[in-house]
Amino acid sequence: MNPIYNFSAGPAVLPAEVLQQARDEMLDWHGSGMSVMEMSHRGKEFISIAAELEADLRELIGIPGSYKVLFLSGGASSQFAMVPMNLLRGREKAGYVNTGEWSKKAIREAGRYGTVDVVASSEDAKFTYIPPQDAWRIDPEIAYLHYTPNETIGGVEFHWIPDVSHLGRNVPLVADISSTFLSRPLDITRFGLIYAGAQKNFGPAGLTVVVVREDLLGTTLPGTPTMFDYAVHAGNDSMYNTPPTYPMYIAGLVLAWIKRQGGLAAMERINIAKAKLLYDLLDSTDFYQCPVASPDRSRMNVPFTLKNPGLDELFLAQAKSEGLIQLKGHRSVGGMRASIYNAMPLAGVAALTTFMREFADRHA
Ligand SMILES: *Cc1c(COP(=O)(O)O)cnc(C)c1O
Repeated sequence: MNPIYNFSAGPAVLPAEVLQQARDEMLDWHGSGMSVMEMSHRGKEFISIAAELEADLRELIGIPGSYKVLFLSGGASSQFAMVPMNLLRGREKAGYVNTGEWSKKAIREAGRYGTVDVVASSEDAKFTYIPPQDAWRIDPEIAYLHYTPNETIGGVEFHWIPDVSHLGRNVPLVADISSTFLSRPLDITRFGLIYAGAQKNFGPAGLTVVVVREDLLGTTLPGTPTMFDYAVHAGNDSMYNTPPTYPMYIAGLVLAWIKRQGGLAAMERINIAKAKLLYDLLDSTDFYQCPVASPDRSRMNVPFTLKNPGLDELFLAQAKSEGLIQLKGHRSVGGMRASIYNAMPLAGVAALTTFMREFADRHA
C-alpha cells in the first residue's frame, strides 16, 4: 500500500511512530495490566504520565518555574471566554488584533465580558496579511493584548512577536497559539499567557494546554464558574476534575517524538523546508494562486486556489486517488488548504507538489 498523506487542518496527522507505540501499549501500559484509558487519574501510573508530559513540555520550550502549565479540556474555544474572565482583573478593556476567523471568534466572545479594543485588523484585505505593529493603536489602559500567531483558516502567520514593553505597565501578551504550537522555538517570557487546542500539532482533540505566568492568577470576574478559574486548575495540578487522560498520554508520546527529532529548532528547520517547497511551486505558475502576502505566509496551513475553480472537484478526486487527502479548503474561504504540521514528512509535501505540477501540466 502506498502511504496516505493527510493534510487535514485538525484533528490532524500524528507521527506514525506515536500511533504504533500507542497501539503496542493499548491493552497493557508498561506492565500495569491496564490501558491508559482505564487508569485513575490519581493513581501512580497516570501521575507519572502527567508529570513526564509537563516536564518534557517545560524542557522543549524552556518554560521557567514562574509559569504554570495547565492541561484542560474545552478546546481553544473555551479559552476565548476563560481569558477575559481571568485576565481582565478589574479593568474594563482588552486589546485584540484581528487577523482572521479565529481572531474574530475570540473577539466576539471577549465582548461578552468587557470592552474589546481592536488595535489592528486586516479585514480590509480579506485577512491576507499581518498588519505591521507600527500601525497599531494600543490604548494603554487595556488589561491584556490578545493575538492569533497563526490563523489556521486564512493561512497567515506572525513571524515576529508583538512588543508590549512600551506600554509602561506590565501588560500581558496573550496568544491563541493552537496551530503553530511546537512548530518552532518560542520565547515564553514574552507572553503572559498562551493557549492551544491539541489537535493541530500536539495530540488528539480533547486536550487544551495553557501556559500562564503565575502572578496573573487569582482575580476572576464575579460569577466565573469554578471550572473556568485558572487558579483552581493551577492549585490542583490540573486534577481538580478528571483531565483528558488519554489525549495527555498521546501528547506525551508526541513530545518524546519531537525530542527524538532534535527539539523545536529541528522542527522549525524541517517546517521551513516543507513550506518553501510548497510556496515555491505555487509561485512558479499562475495555474495556482496563494492569496497571502509573502512575508506573512503560514508554515503550517497553506491555502491556495486553482485559477479555474471548475477544476476543484477533479483536483480533489485525483489527489485522493494518489493518497493525498483532506485538501479541501475551509468552507469560508473555498479552494484548497494543505496543512503541513510537524507530523507531515517532507516526503508528503514532495508528493503533493509533484502531483500539483503534473495536474497543472495536464490541464494548462
Ligand atoms: C482549531 C483552532 C481553534 C479552535 O479550537 P477548538 O479546540 O476546536 O476549540 C481556535 N483557534 C485556532 C487558531 C485554531 O486553529
